Amino acid sequence: MLTINTRLDEFSEVLAIAEADDAIWCSVGAHPHEAKDHTTLAPQQLAALAIHPKVVGIGETGLDFHYDLSPRDVQERVFRAHIAASRETGLPLIIHAREADDEIIRILEEERPPPGVMHCFSSGRALAEVALALGFYISISGIVTFHNAEELRAIVRDLPLDRLLVETDAPYLAPVPYRGKRNEPAFVAATAAAVAGLKGLEPRHLAQVTSANFFRLFGKASALVQ
Ligand SMILES: [Zn+2]
Repeated sequence: MLTINTRLDEFSEVLAIAEADDAIWCSVGAHPHEAKDHTTLAPQQLAALAIHPKVVGIGETGLDFHYDLSPRDVQERVFRAHIAASRETGLPLIIHAREADDEIIRILEEERPPPGVMHCFSSGRALAEVALALGFYISISGIVTFHNAEELRAIVRDLPLDRLLVETDAPYLAPVPYRGKRNEPAFVAATAAAVAGLKGLEPRHLAQVTSANFFRLFGKASALVQ
């Protein structure tokens, strides 16, 4: 499992979770909501924290124009700092995109970062296609089990199996039948079962595929388990 850092002043707590369990890794980064508190973030800061062996990804980063909790220009500057850190370290980006598909597409096509993951994917088909063309993976959350998510389910049916991941987005977005509860890692099984159904696979087979995908994308974690 990968646990995600969203503010640098919480990095040590996230790292402690990863250090306490051989099967948990973490990322380093500042969520777009928190960009306003990281206006001077430099790629070198992220790269320095990423030296730790349990840090296997850069993020979460990206753009969120739904809540607009940070000014949009600041979100973009901080996003680009993460992209530079990904390039410098070779570690994959974890990208959050909410109501900012066009801007994310523009930035990804300009920057052409190394492959990462579009996390908690709830965007449109165009962003999925640009991300896949850049070698990115698409991570599916409990949203895929929601009644009104037919558009997302249609995209999932078309995604290549070797680019698919599943996640919780805990504590948010608990999948059916846990909807409304505080989400937790164990509930990812319900999301994986829904994705398996869309792909015509047994859940056990999907689990093997997504685990293999995880270790291919997060190669630094892979090196530690072998
Ligand atoms: Zn997110």
